[in-house]
Amino acid sequence: MTWASIKRLARRISLFFCLHADLTFIRNIYGDEIFFWGGDRSVWKCRRCGQTVTQPHLSQYTKD
Ligand SMILES: [Zn+2]
Repeated sequence: MTWASIKRLARRISLFFCLHADLTFIRNIYGDEIFFWGGDRSVWKCRRCGQTVTQPHLSQYTKD
């Protein structure tokens, strides 16, 4: 096992346990789409693992 493969494995494990604490706001959710997302009101992207997550509140940040 090389050092590079150990680092790659460690990164994969850390992403698996990612708490999505460093989020970038994408957009708020309105109308019927709220039901689609199970009642959540805003879409965010995790800066650490890149996963899209939703939050149950509207963001005060808007892109308009
Ligand atoms: Zn994450």
